[in-house]
Amino acid sequence: MQDETTRALGRAIHHSLQHLDQLPYAPVGPTVDLATMRRRLLRPLGDGPLPAEQVIDELVADSAGGIVGSAGGRFHAWVVGGSVPAALAADWLTSTWDQNAGLYAAGPAAAIAEEATGAWVSELLGLPRQASFALVTGCQMAHATCLAAARNAVLRSKGWDVEADGLQGAPAIRVISGNQRHSSTTRALRLLGLGKNCVIDIPADDQYRLRPADLEAELRREPDRPTIVLLLAGELCTGSFDPFRELIPIAKKYNAWVHVDGAFGLWAAASARFRHLTDGVDLADSWATDGHKWLNVPYDSGFAFVRDNAAHLASMSSRESYLIYDGNARDQMDWNPEFSRRARGFAAYAAIRQLGRSGVEQLVDRCCDLALALVRGVGALPGAEIVWEPQINQGLVRFPDPAGLDDNAWTDKVIAAILASGEAFFGGTTWHGSRCMRVSVSNWRTTQAEVDRVIAAVENVLKRLES
Ligand SMILES: *Cc1c(COP(=O)(O)O)cnc(C)c1O
Repeated sequence: MQDETTRALGRAIHHSLQHLDQLPYAPVGPTVDLATMRRRLLRPLGDGPLPAEQVIDELVADSAGGIVGSAGGRFHAWVVGGSVPAALAADWLTSTWDQNAGLYAAGPAAAIAEEATGAWVSELLGLPRQASFALVTGCQMAHATCLAAARNAVLRSKGWDVEADGLQGAPAIRVISGNQRHSSTTRALRLLGLGKNCVIDIPADDQYRLRPADLEAELRREPDRPTIVLLLAGELCTGSFDPFRELIPIAKKYNAWVHVDGAFGLWAAASARFRHLTDGVDLADSWATDGHKWLNVPYDSGFAFVRDNAAHLASMSSRESYLIYDGNARDQMDWNPEFSRRARGFAAYAAIRQLGRSGVEQLVDRCCDLALALVRGVGALPGAEIVWEPQINQGLVRFPDPAGLDDNAWTDKVIAAILASGEAFFGGTTWHGSRCMRVSVSNWRTTQAEVDRVIAAVENVLKRLES
């Protein structure tokens, strides 16, 4: 006699395997509209209980057509990655075990798996061994975690204790960045009470990199102001890297804290072929990156690393008399913004164990090679042109209007038609004033055969639209 848990989990594994089996054949984009999704899922609140397996079956049926195929190999709109098998399975176990990974005492294995994961990621990315870390929900919260430590440290150096006195009356912090930075940095600064207007965005060069002379000129303008410098490893459209080896010593000369947004780009450091792009990144003070993008861990996986352990601890630690702390262990609550939290380390731990050092390197290399093949293949089609050839896993193409009227509108039209074909999912962006189609490859499931199929699909769309 099966109990309800067994039946519900049995349905879940059945539906999961069916979903994964169909990924190569199913349309990548949604096939139902908003009204249909609402009609199906916005049910009235139920009066009484339902059998768990019925809930699962109906959830799957109601969601049909509304699950984007981003777990598969033909999703190229954003860097979303997929899930390597061990990570997906460990993620299921994480829910089964249902640990509260805030304290060592509440989940010893979870705490130690995080210790291992933090050390492995740091090693793969070539970060300083002594850097403290936090496993957070994503790069957005990694920014918030790192920049809280940064705020703490730069104000402490001016004799201000932000943990005790907050920001009211504090010396004004200046944040300097290239204007190519990701919007999640702005939101982190807003969350931290610094506001978006504290940022001085310096126009980047034509490769989307911050110029050393520009950084120095800005620092020199107010040499004594508490300052955070934001640098980028992997710009959204081009995958560009700021020249860390030149920029960081300049920032250090002015006692600035250097934070690196490396959501996906930092993973280039795991590859012998691409590591040179991150040269000098280890000189920074804090680093934010993701597990759920290029490492192919399921969602809810980001990493924050901080060189100054004391600043990190001071900004996050929270102690309560009713909790149990272990003097020898690492209580995650001391390093994370959350109180109760998912034992998210297990999935990243499993991904790295499955791949190993060489597997991570091959994943990075393969995605870069396939991104290049995809951009070149699409770019070679009549009616398409390459705007940015990938240096890592990001590229740009555009579609000039055959009637010569409006290239931007035509490019958006082609992107929409590709999505409607179900064959691939791309997104648009405005780059140097013109609409482009972004091409990202970050999923371990993407193959050369799928890249060829996507190129053929784009070719068909172009032929159809032009006829
Ligand atoms: C995705 C991304 C972020 C935000 O990361 P989340 O994991 O979505 O919070 C920040 N910076 C860059 C460059 C990104 O690509």
